[in-house]
Amino acid sequence: MWLTAWMPRTIVALHAHPDDESSKGAATIARYHDLGMRTVLITATGGEAGEILNPEAETDAARTDLAAVRRYELREAARIIGYDDVVMLGYRDSGMPGSDDNRHPDALVNSPFDEILERLVSIVRSERPQVILGYDDHEWYPHPDHLRIHDLSMAVFDAAADPARYPDSGDPWAADRLYAPVFSLRRLRLLSEAMESRGMESPFSRWIERIGLDAVDPPLTIVEIGPYVERARDALRAHRTQIDPNGPWFQIPLDIILSVYPHEDFELLASRDGADPEGFDLFD
Ligand SMILES: [Zn+2]
Repeated sequence: MWLTAWMPRTIVALHAHPDDESSKGAATIARYHDLGMRTVLITATGGEAGEILNPEAETDAARTDLAAVRRYELREAARIIGYDDVVMLGYRDSGMPGSDDNRHPDALVNSPFDEILERLVSIVRSERPQVILGYDDHEWYPHPDHLRIHDLSMAVFDAAADPARYPDSGDPWAADRLYAPVFSLRRLRLLSEAMESRGMESPFSRWIERIGLDAVDPPLTIVEIGPYVERARDALRAHRTQIDPNGPWFQIPLDIILSVYPHEDFELLASRDGADPEGFDLFD
């Protein structure tokens, strides 16, 4: 008789700042959570360098200790999405390119790469995920922390599986796949066209201009998330200091999203199981 050990399916998502988990791949995480998979969020920084972007959230608490308020917002957003666990690594937000925050000694970009990597390796080895979410190379949004997360996600996928690396940080674990949530041009264009055809201004038209008309998407894995769109939007709204509920993100009518593009897009960055880069599921 064969006994098959029950193996929980787990996804570990690595993000740079509080609110990134709600704007990138949140509906997909909500879907997998509801399917019974274990979902773990790692947030590298506290988002201290962010500004208060919502006039209604300009409280004394937010002005004096933005990091504390953002921690609270992150917990709430993660609860709404359905993350089973949240790990905050506690590095300092490195700020936008060229800002003074870049030089802070505690900034994620100034913290030793090997030390951060070892912490990530140890989480991956104890959670044993089949799927890791990281970042792509962020060609058109070169936030230093996002670039750092790209480098770290590529590195942890390899290092966690390598018995020679960090032997004191748990038994090696080879995740099957590493994906990055991406805003595909296809999605931006379809949503923009649908809004403009209703005489609305699209929040994406400036992005599309910046990216360039001849830009093309990488091969994409497209996850169906229609029933989870609202939940992801609620999670984003939980980041009250960062998200103006009257801002452009919420101007896209729900029925347009549901009829035009009820999907989230992912780029396959690495795989050990021969995953199809143009699939429809992150696990299968
Ligand atoms: Zn970010």
